[in-house]
Amino acid sequence: MKDFASGCAGRKDLVYDVIVAGGGAAGVGAALAASRRSRVLLVETESTVGGDLLTGMPIYGAWNSLGEQCVGGVLNDLVAECRQQPDGFIGPVCDWRTVYGLCLSPAALHLAILRLLHACGVHVMLKSTLTRVGAKDGHVVELEVASQDG
Ligand SMILES: Cc1cc2nc3c(=O)[nH]c(=O)nc-3n(C[C@H](O)[C@H](O)[C@H](O)COP(=O)(O)OP(=O)(O)OC[C@H]3O[C@@H](n4cnc5c(N)ncnc54)[C@H](O)[C@@H]3O)c2cc1C
Repeated sequence: MKDFASGCAGRKDLVYDVIVAGGGAAGVGAALAASRRSRVLLVETESTVGGDLLTGMPIYGAWNSLGEQCVGGVLNDLVAECRQQPDGFIGPVCDWRTVYGLCLSPAALHLAILRLLHACGVHVMLKSTLTRVGAKDGHVVELEVASQDG
């Protein structure tokens, strides 16, 4: 983690097409999808990525009420990574509302997120918070990030 998390810290020579604020479900999904065509930086306040995904709660909305997967994309990549780890994939579990929640081991999911971000070349700045966004004519022209590295 250290290699790619801190590899960009303090460097002034890096150029990104996309900067994502927040490494939860939304940010990780956005960063991985954008990395297919762009150079991506992911900025995360905490000391690791994953956000609420690391709580181990079931992921709702990826399986329909018939028990069929209805969301693909980045989720497929994360599930494939989890399946490679012992007990990483628990499966879609139906609760009393006939809603299926996708259950993954939080440890496996955490590792899957780190591996995919690394494999996709996404640079990650941890312990760093996006504090200000400057816009002009509807375009982002300036970002301010506060980090322990300054
Ligand atoms: C009590 C509760 C129970 C839930 N239960 C379920 C459930 O069972 N199943 C389900 O599918 N969903 C559940 N959800 C919803 C789910 O947690 C969210 O939909 C999902 O986590 C949203 O992902 P996110 O990436 O937007 O936010 P998060 O997972 O919260 O990630 C946001 C990340 O951005 C970082 N961040 C914030 N501001 C900045 C900044 N300025 N700069 C840099 N980093 C920043 C944070 O540190 C965090 O890591 C629940 C939510 C709550 C509150």
